[in-house]
Amino acid sequence: MKTGKTAVMTGPDRPFEVREYPVLPVPGGMARMKLIAGGVCGTDVHIAKGRLAVGLPACIGHEFVGKVEEIGEADSVRYGIRAGDNVIVDIAVPCGECVLCKEGNDANCVNMGVTNGGMPDVAPHFYGGFGDYNYSPVKNLVKLPQGLDPVVACVFACPGPTVIHACGLGAKAGLDLSKVNVAVVQGAGPVGCFAVAYLAAHGVKEVLVVCGRSGDRRAAVARKLGATGILAYNEMPMNEILNYVKSKNGGIGADLVFEASGNPAAVPQGMEMLRNRGMYLVPGQYSESGGIEIRPQLITFKALSIIGSSQYSMADVHEYVNFLCGHPELHGTVKELASCYSVDEVNRAFEDAASGRNIKTVIVPTEG
Ligand SMILES: [Zn+2]
Ligand SMILES: [Zn+2]
Repeated sequence: MKTGKTAVMTGPDRPFEVREYPVLPVPGGMARMKLIAGGVCGTDVHIAKGRLAVGLPACIGHEFVGKVEEIGEADSVRYGIRAGDNVIVDIAVPCGECVLCKEGNDANCVNMGVTNGGMPDVAPHFYGGFGDYNYSPVKNLVKLPQGLDPVVACVFACPGPTVIHACGLGAKAGLDLSKVNVAVVQGAGPVGCFAVAYLAAHGVKEVLVVCGRSGDRRAAVARKLGATGILAYNEMPMNEILNYVKSKNGGIGADLVFEASGNPAAVPQGMEMLRNRGMYLVPGQYSESGGIEIRPQLITFKALSIIGSSQYSMADVHEYVNFLCGHPELHGTVKELASCYSVDEVNRAFEDAASGRNIKTVIVPTEG
């Protein structure tokens, strides 16, 4: 019988076990993917360290692409997905019934479920993104067009839709990227890097990135993706950074600030950088990292729009795929961001992801 490996989380802050399970026929409503690449997200690092609780043991990993190996005939017809197609799996299962789902905000469903994280001893065993196979509901699959490199699609599979969703909520509140002169992106991790590419591609004239060092690899990548300036907080006092941002927009401050650092200290700085009626998009504060003092007076006096954003919808994943297809010039740079590890190397991959050594850590199946 054909078997495959999957990384299994057995406890908080414990090494993953790599277990082998039989590859079973696909249940109705589901498809079996041979995984191509599974990204390690900041959220996965928090889960592995026990800072976000999950049922254990678990197959974690929520941003992955695979090739459909088996799918029922009826599901294939219904969803237009066939064996051999490459897909991104969106793990979110909004309830469809709550007030948020009904008003079109299913990304923030109050009864949100997920397709991953299942108990690996229960058939069909492969529920996560760090293994040789994955079984997921067919309705959670987003097809990648032929010719789009699935590893390129994996690099920003979760950061990309995260950024697109935040910009979409901004647009509902009046944001028009084509009219933004000066935007600041705080942080140059995966979310920050994709935000740079997305803002630059939508016509934002100045995309300034606030990050640690101007000479490191993250800064170089941000420049390649469209950043017009790097403001390094380890090299410049914050008041100089603020003055520089203001000077770029006729002395008034940034039109848009995008928080992608996850550091609470970035939030009061972002508020200071904005001009009157500026917009602050805040999808970056994903984990509980403590509090920070802010000056609420700035919200009133500058009449700021502060827009939180978490999760994303299937529509954002489709928009992400369209964006990649529309910008082939980015693919080379994006692919270089992936540092690949086999399933057997999952523990080293997580150590390197946690240390910040890689921009994007990616798990690839055992036999490539
Ligand atoms: Zn993620
Ligand atoms: Zn709901």
